[in-house]
Amino acid sequence: MTHDFTTPYAEGPPVQTSAPFTVRTAPDGREVVVEGLCPRCQGATASPFPVGLPGAGGTKGVLSRLLGRTAGTDAAGDVLATEVFFCECGYAHPQQPADVPFVGCGASWRVVAPPPGGDGA
Ligand SMILES: [Zn+2]
Ligand SMILES: [Zn+2]
Repeated sequence: MTHDFTTPYAEGPPVQTSAPFTVRTAPDGREVVVEGLCPRCQGATASPFPVGLPGAGGTKGVLSRLLGRTAGTDAAGDVLATEVFFCECGYAHPQQPADVPFVGCGASWRVVAPPPGGDGA
């Protein structure tokens, strides 16, 4: 899959995709960045979500502490499961309005879990 620069800008209701998206904590620990490929234009997109709390030491578990609102669940997975993402591939697609909030192809999507495949604890 390569980034299709000819995809005209178009907004619409979020589609559902089970494409792999990764969640990482920004180096300063202040935001969580969801990265993947736009299901529409295939451009690489990264959507930051501020967490608003100072980072703490450590690696694993920090994320859930930072988000802090979903005790007992995987916070990273929660972001993936609950947020709507917008294409932020950064490319000015054809017919893109001048005042778009996100520079991309206008696509939005929800990430749905792929069919369960025996991922236990
Ligand atoms: Zn796109
Ligand atoms: Zn694009």
